Amino acid sequence: MFSVLEKIAADEIIELTRQLIRIPSENPPGGEGEIAEFIAEKLKDLGLTVRVYEFKPGRPSVVGLLSGVKEKPTLMFNGHMDTVPVGDKDLWSVEPFEGVLRDGRIYGRGAADMKGALAAMIASVKAIVESEVNLRGRLILTFVADEEVTGYGTRDLIRRGYRADFAIVGEPSELNVQTAHKGLLWLKVVIRGKAAHASIPHQGVNAIYRMADFCLALEKMNSLLAEKKHALLGPPTINVGTIKGGIKTNIVPDYCEITIDRRLIPGEKPVDVKREIEETLESLGGKTSKLQTQVEVLNLAEPSETPQDELIVQVARKAVREVIGRDPGVTGFTATCDMRFLVNEAGIPTIILGPGSLRQAHVIDEYVEVEQVINAAKIYTSIILKTLS
Ligand SMILES: [Zn+2]
Repeated sequence: MFSVLEKIAADEIIELTRQLIRIPSENPPGGEGEIAEFIAEKLKDLGLTVRVYEFKPGRPSVVGLLSGVKEKPTLMFNGHMDTVPVGDKDLWSVEPFEGVLRDGRIYGRGAADMKGALAAMIASVKAIVESEVNLRGRLILTFVADEEVTGYGTRDLIRRGYRADFAIVGEPSELNVQTAHKGLLWLKVVIRGKAAHASIPHQGVNAIYRMADFCLALEKMNSLLAEKKHALLGPPTINVGTIKGGIKTNIVPDYCEITIDRRLIPGEKPVDVKREIEETLESLGGKTSKLQTQVEVLNLAEPSETPQDELIVQVARKAVREVIGRDPGVTGFTATCDMRFLVNEAGIPTIILGPGSLRQAHVIDEYVEVEQVINAAKIYTSIILKTLS
């Protein structure tokens, strides 16, 4: 096995990460065409069977297949090619699409989330191919579009029938093995009251006062949620993020709206969570004739979890321990990610394991540690060998 790991060339991985950063794939607006073409060429050069699928025009995902002696077992790697936007470029101290290499770090949009992981995945497959190891099972690389907005790139591949016995999502986990992630539910809540002249407020129904009651009830709900803890992810949370209402100081407002971000832990169903919030609203008099309410789902991503005794969890922990010299244990990923489609729709035992930190994702001067990208390539290679050879 160590002879295969020796094939991992640090210089090549660093260069590949920088090349990927130099191809912008900001989402929104979204457009993975150029980076997909670049990756597809790389995989073809390695002798993989390559397919490209668009879940909608201009939004391609790339699949690379490396056959083994048999069809099974199958190991899937999943990584998204899109990044969040750079935002205000002037706030960056480095050029975000240059892949600046400085003090053992590679800087740029997508460095941690997750072009470093893509480079590590490609490098590990290269090491396997060049070592001419005979794989028993099959390796599937899925490099997908649109994780940052909808997740439809991964969902599309699952709906096209791609399956595996185990999967690894390369989101930034600082090389920790993560078996669960949170989900989210974003809601818009509208309360309508009755307008009146501010000098005779009792003739109206003040939508802002009613919304204030509701906001305080949600704050109370948050402290109840704090008691409901997931072992790896902590408690679910609720946050009121925006509020709008009223048009003039001397008018009793007949309209108020808020948006809510509710984070879900595994075991919670979005439909139940929405119901709970609606009931809270109704208990405040939302059903009385003068007060009309409306609840709209703005965004939804389910949580997911893989049992810790699954083979992929054990194998990954062992591989990490061998490469970095410590058992990472098992932790949770606090954000949402494409793991939910692999687990909830396809039933694939999946872990999150990648270089870089979630604290570096989506921020100004995003970076990934070079050492982590190289170690990720070694860990991925070791997992391929342990599961498929
Ligand atoms: Zn990501």
